[in-house]
Amino acid sequence: MSQTFTPISTLGEFGLIQRMSDRLADIPRSAALIEGIGDDAAVYRAGENTLHVITTDALIEGVHFDRTFIPMSFLGYKAISVNVSDVVAMNARPMYATISLGIPRNMSVEMLDSLYDGLRLGCKKYGMELVGGDTSTSHALYISITVVGEVAERDVVFRRGANVGDFLCVTGDVGGAYAGLKVLLDQRQALKDLGDSYEPDLEAHQYVIQRQLRPTARLDMIEAFKKAGIRPTSMIDISDGIASEIHHIAQRSGVGATVRIPALPFDPETRAVADQFMDDIDAYALFGGEDYELLFTVDPSQVDKVDALEGCSVIGNIEEATKGIRAYSPDTGLMPLHPAGYQHFDPGDDNLDVLGPDNFELPKSKNDSE
Ligand SMILES: [Mg+2]
Repeated sequence: MSQTFTPISTLGEFGLIQRMSDRLADIPRSAALIEGIGDDAAVYRAGENTLHVITTDALIEGVHFDRTFIPMSFLGYKAISVNVSDVVAMNARPMYATISLGIPRNMSVEMLDSLYDGLRLGCKKYGMELVGGDTSTSHALYISITVVGEVAERDVVFRRGANVGDFLCVTGDVGGAYAGLKVLLDQRQALKDLGDSYEPDLEAHQYVIQRQLRPTARLDMIEAFKKAGIRPTSMIDISDGIASEIHHIAQRSGVGATVRIPALPFDPETRAVADQFMDDIDAYALFGGEDYELLFTVDPSQVDKVDALEGCSVIGNIEEATKGIRAYSPDTGLMPLHPAGYQHFDPGDDNLDVLGPDNFELPKSKNDSE
C-alpha cells in the first residue's frame, strides 16, 4: 500500500467527481442505463417510454446542520426536499424513498418522532412514499435518503443539453438560504456574547430562516413548465450556488455562459439581511447555495414563455465554450466567474462569513448522484 497521503481537498469538487468516476470506469455498463455519474440523478429505462431516476443525499450533523438551530421536524422535511430537488432537476416526479439513519445516543424517542413528522410532511407534500430503510447508532445524527422518481422519456432533462444561444433562467428567488444562515449564525454569536440576557430576534427574518431550515423542492415549477409548454434544454438544482451549478451545466454541455448579475432575483428580506451585514448580496446567490431553486436553459423560441411565467427569471446566456463562464454587471463589466464551494455549519470553522471564489474549499455537501 502506498504511503503517500494526498489531501482530498487538493482535488477540488470537479476533480473529486472525475477521480471517483474514473475508479469505476471498467464496470460493465447496463444497456438500460441512460445517464450515470455526473447529473443530479442517474437515469435508467423502466419501460418502453418511461425512465426512472435515482439519487441519494445525506445530511450530517456538524457538517450540514447544527441541531441547536433546526427543529427535528424541519430537518426531516429538509432531508426529503434536498433529494426531491435532484429528482425535479431531471424534470421527473419522485415516487419512492428509502432512508438510512445514524442515531446518536443523545437523541430521544420524542426527537425521533418529530424527525419522522417532518419526513411524513415532506412525503405528503411531494406525493411520494417512504418504503424502507436502515438504522444504526452513530456519533452524530446522520440522515441519508435515496429517492426514485419517474419521467416520460420525451420529458427528461439533463445537465448536458444546453446549446449556444440558449437563455439561462432561474426559478423563484436566490440567496435567501444563505441570508438565513447569516442571521442564525449572528444570533448564535449574540447568544454566546450576551448569555441569558439575550432575546433572539427572528421575527423580521422569517422568510430567509425558513429558506435555510425548511426548503421546498420546486416540483410545482416543473408542473408549471409542462402547463406552459416549456421544455428546458438543460437543468440543475441550486444546492451549491449559481456559480458552481452553471459550471456543471457548462462542463456537461460543452458550452460557456454569462450570468447577468443585475438580473438575479432577490427577496426583499434577503436584501435587508445583506444590507444589515454590509455584504455583497450577489455573493449570496452565486456562492451561498442551498436555495433548491432550478437553474435551467431554454431555446430562444421559448424565452417569451419563461418571461410570462410567474416566478421565473432570465438571468443570462449560453455562449461558446471558449468564452468560459463569466458574470456581467455594469460596474465591473465581464468578469470570470469561478465555482465556489458552500461553507456549511462547522463548529471548528471561523470562516463562515467569508464567501467568494478565492475561498474555494472541498464542498462538504454533494447533492449529486455521484
Ligand atoms: Mg443537484
